[in-house]
Amino acid sequence: AITRPVRTRVAPSPTGDPHVGTAYIALINYCFAKKHGGEFLLRIEDTDQARSTPQSEKMILESLRWLGLSWDEGPDVGGPHGPYRQSERSAIYTAHCDQLLADGHAFKCYCTPEKLAASRAAQMAAKQPPKYDGACLSLTADDIAKLDSEGVSHVVRMKIPTTGTCIVQDTLRGEIAFEYAVVDMQVLMKSDGLPTYHLANVVDDHLMGITHVMRGEEWISSAPKHLLLYQYFGWEPPVLTHLPLLRNADKSKLSKRKNPTSILYYQRAGYLPQAMQNFLGLFIKSASEEDEKTSLQTLIDEFDVHNISLGGPVFDTSKLDWLN
Ligand code: GLU
Repeated sequence: AITRPVRTRVAPSPTGDPHVGTAYIALINYCFAKKHGGEFLLRIEDTDQARSTPQSEKMILESLRWLGLSWDEGPDVGGPHGPYRQSERSAIYTAHCDQLLADGHAFKCYCTPEKLAASRAAQMAAKQPPKYDGACLSLTADDIAKLDSEGVSHVVRMKIPTTGTCIVQDTLRGEIAFEYAVVDMQVLMKSDGLPTYHLANVVDDHLMGITHVMRGEEWISSAPKHLLLYQYFGWEPPVLTHLPLLRNADKSKLSKRKNPTSILYYQRAGYLPQAMQNFLGLFIKSASEEDEKTSLQTLIDEFDVHNISLGGPVFDTSKLDWLN
């Protein structure tokens, strides 16, 4: 059990309109932190330079403020503090990546895209799950020095044990076992010198003192990689909760075609922030409370992560109309 003060975060990538799914995850992290007298942080995960935009970040901030989910700290920008931004923390990730290389937990990979594609194709043809074949693990120090002196570009990948099992302990799902044999040697640092989500996310969660990570269930398969990184660094991992994604009434993944999924759409259409809080709150209340309107404070007081149904909360905007 974690004995440190509770700290949670929401970590959106600013690559589009602020999604209602992000607001739902933010609300859960906010309520959990506040219920335990802890803090809630906002971290903008903008290491994908090609897809991140300042406009998207601006809208994310606006939508969280509109919903009343203000974050508790961040770099001082003169005025209300800004969020943490991964694009401003590059040197931190480089130093941590260098440490993994020095400790032998990561390695440089010089494989070309063509070589990687050929290896994947061969594995698929042999009906094996495609993953990095480990070719660069056998490079000697001399090989590496030569490649570097020739200016051949590389990425950095993490090492994965060749045998054994990783047990992911998830609050809502219990223990999930992953064989290391199927876990890919994840790229941690790209050839442009920027970290991937996996490295930046783990380093930041640790440095920001995050005790509980509550994020979308699409990240479950990344958890073994993240837990290994915690182990390599000698850090205590956070408590993990993977949240079911919001769904359309037919249980398909929420998409723009059925309902607007941008939080700002609802703001601009004249919905009240309280109605949206209540609507998102329906997904985190126990079934017996579902017919009541509540305040954000009540959502906090009554928050229990086990009320979240794994079946996939249905995003039904007629309920939102009723609440407004
Ligand atoms: N940037 C990731 C996302 O937008 C964050 C996932 C996480 O919370 O770890 O989904």
